[in-house]
Amino acid sequence: NLVAVAVEATGAQGIPRSSGLSDALFVHDGQITKRPVRALALSALAPRPGERLWDIGAGSGSISVEWALCGGTAIAIEARDDRAGNVRSNAAAFGLAHRITVVTGKVPDALAALEAPDAVFIGGGLDLAMFDAIWSRLPPGTRLVAHAVTLETEALLGELHQRHGGELMRVEIAHAAPLGRYRSWEAARPVVQWSTVR
Ligand code: SAH
Repeated sequence: NLVAVAVEATGAQGIPRSSGLSDALFVHDGQITKRPVRALALSALAPRPGERLWDIGAGSGSISVEWALCGGTAIAIEARDDRAGNVRSNAAAFGLAHRITVVTGKVPDALAALEAPDAVFIGGGLDLAMFDAIWSRLPPGTRLVAHAVTLETEALLGELHQRHGGELMRVEIAHAAPLGRYRSWEAARPVVQWSTVR
């Protein structure tokens, strides 16, 4: 029960209205865009009611859920069957099954029959061939946000930013964690975010 989980995670009743919901609200296997970084993704995606998102490499579907909570619809595309199942579970738990379409398959092939989006999030698996296939499908004005964790994808985002403009941002977050009798900062892997408009 989602509300019970929310109470446990935050100590308060109900689902918060802001983006960047607790990771504990989602069924996931560790592959999830973590709360603070997810808030930055949603901020860049800038959802408006009625808009359509392509969530590419949907993982747990947390981005699709937060997008749909803002009043839009999402197409969550995920290569792995088990994760596509998690997306379905999460969409249902939030009462958003009617607004989130799950496509199990690999991008770019999985994009073939989809209606054009207002925004695209690329959360994983990006390479140049995938980018070109996505980009060529986007109408002018489409917002695109991509995250990179690996050096290879980061280098690609550097090139794409040079070619297409937009904003390139590196996010480095650290959490306080025990170190013997003291505490110290434990750094998360840096995430590079590129956001642009087609
Ligand atoms: N934003 C997600 C996490 C993404 S992890 C969340 O918040 O839960 C990246 C995901 O991309 C993985 O689940 C992986 O299976 C998927 N993926 C990688 N390459 C893909 C491709 N070509 N097509 C579809 N999914 C892909």
